[in-house]
Amino acid sequence: MEHEGRHALVTGGGTGIGLDIAQALAEAGANVTITGRNLNRLEDAATAHPRLHPLQMDVSDEASVRDGIAAAARARGPVAICVANAGIAEPLAFADIDMSHWRRIMATNLDGVFVTVQAAMATLGPGDWGRMIAISSIAGVRGLKGALAYTASKHGVIGLMRGLSEEYMRANITFNALCPGYVDTPIVARNAEYIAARRGISVDEARAYLAGGNRHKTLLDVAEITGAAMWLCSDSARSVNGQMIQIAGGQVS
Ligand code: NDP
Repeated sequence: MEHEGRHALVTGGGTGIGLDIAQALAEAGANVTITGRNLNRLEDAATAHPRLHPLQMDVSDEASVRDGIAAAARARGPVAICVANAGIAEPLAFADIDMSHWRRIMATNLDGVFVTVQAAMATLGPGDWGRMIAISSIAGVRGLKGALAYTASKHGVIGLMRGLSEEYMRANITFNALCPGYVDTPIVARNAEYIAARRGISVDEARAYLAGGNRHKTLLDVAEITGAAMWLCSDSARSVNGQMIQIAGGQVS
């Protein structure tokens, strides 16, 4: 019960990576606010543990984030652990990207992390303990072909967390980014369907294609990302700050 009594907030906490991290934090004693746009899905997810608390919040809508996080803090206390995980992936070739696609990806993946972390930080007082974690991607450290806006947004997330670690270096708060390769979650399921339709191959072949970038030739399990997040939240990681941690099976492309 390492995090007993702490309030954690996980954006995109109703599915995939976010839900797995949220459950682990709840099992470690935290009261965990899980957020997303789809309230029904959040309510279903929250039945998995009595310390999971659903909150409808759209990270691309600043007022929704600021009001939502302030309300969660009134209910469960300052947000000591914030996992800015919500994100979208929409592959599109560079030449086909228009401003509405670019803005949609940036609004969720980069602006969403910025406003989430800022609103969470606003609930903390001087000297408070805190762990701020953003879920970037292997696309945050290298170019992902055919997903330029996604790649740029995830690079931006790493810059944001590094900059925050400098700005708050003397505080009792760390800021880090996790950079997974392909993880077996709904995002990858949708991506595999898209690739299968575009290339005229089966979904299984598309999944194998995605796993092929990982030199272990496998999709990651959500538990691998959760393990890293829980370590970052532990006291033994108190000096890990401003880092981007690749969890990608040595993926190079
Ligand atoms: P999911 O699609 O399961 O999770 C995405 C989550 O983000 C959903 O819960 C969704 O909830 C939420 N979300 C999306 N847009 C918004 C929004 N505007 N406001 C609030 N919530 C939103 O996929 P993953 O679990 O895989 O993805 C989680 C994160 O991990 C993402 O940032 C993704 O880029 C990153 N990642 C994933 C990898 C993978 O291979 N799976 C690899 C590298 C990084 P709702 O629809 O209810 O809003």
